[in-house]
Amino acid sequence: MTNLKILILFTLTLTYLGACTDDNIVDNIDKEIDENINASSTCRTTDTPATVSEINITTPPEGVQTQIVGYYAVTKYLQVVSPQMHIFGTSNVSDWMMVRAHEMAENIVSSIKTKARRKKFAGHHIFVITDVDPIVPGGVPGQRNTGNSLYTIINQVLVCSSTVDSIRPESAPVFRSWDTPIHEFGHAIELALGLRDTTVSLHKDKNPNFDANVSSEYFAWASENWFDARITGTCGVDAMDKFEGDYFFTIFSGESIWKPTCAGRP
Ligand SMILES: [Zn+2]
Repeated sequence: MTNLKILILFTLTLTYLGACTDDNIVDNIDKEIDENINASSTCRTTDTPATVSEINITTPPEGVQTQIVGYYAVTKYLQVVSPQMHIFGTSNVSDWMMVRAHEMAENIVSSIKTKARRKKFAGHHIFVITDVDPIVPGGVPGQRNTGNSLYTIINQVLVCSSTVDSIRPESAPVFRSWDTPIHEFGHAIELALGLRDTTVSLHKDKNPNFDANVSSEYFAWASENWFDARITGTCGVDAMDKFEGDYFFTIFSGESIWKPTCAGRP
């Protein structure tokens, strides 16, 4: 490796750890990093037109919010119709980001194979925030991203921009496209569908590098791969271990593998 490659590997590893902000864990998986840190933009993006546009954004309707009510000052709202999900944004969140977050959630949930599983997302809340908003409830300092069975919180600052994760302010800025939101939504999927035990036993059985300390991260990391969102630029099921790809094929349609575009970000 050249010194430059080593520096980039080190920087990306540090920053990638910052993306796993829900647990603040250590990533034990060695990653081969290309020198082109913008490579993730070459992965597939949406080939499906968005079903809402910026003119559909409203103020949050009375009574719709049932999770962490009052915690964030939400001023923007979009609804995913089926299953019904609620996207809330704080005042500094762009309308572009609201539409793209809607697109991400709608695409990912609609690609879940069975209707019974898709229905588990009925009522799911997504909060889009920025660095001026409070950290996630109960989070570690700087943590503004998380995902659980009831709600997902994503920070606009880490989407389609070169930036520092506020959980690791000492790290160098790095370009991110959709790795963090899809990682967090991956946590939401694993937990909402009750897949944690299955994921962990699969990794225990098939992953020679299995580490119990990061067992809650495997599904979220795999979600980044599956939806072509890995920060390293490695894309899709081909970048996954076969056992993990086979597992994801039991959950998701293989025809809906993409992430939202970065085009048009203000
Ligand atoms: Zn995580």
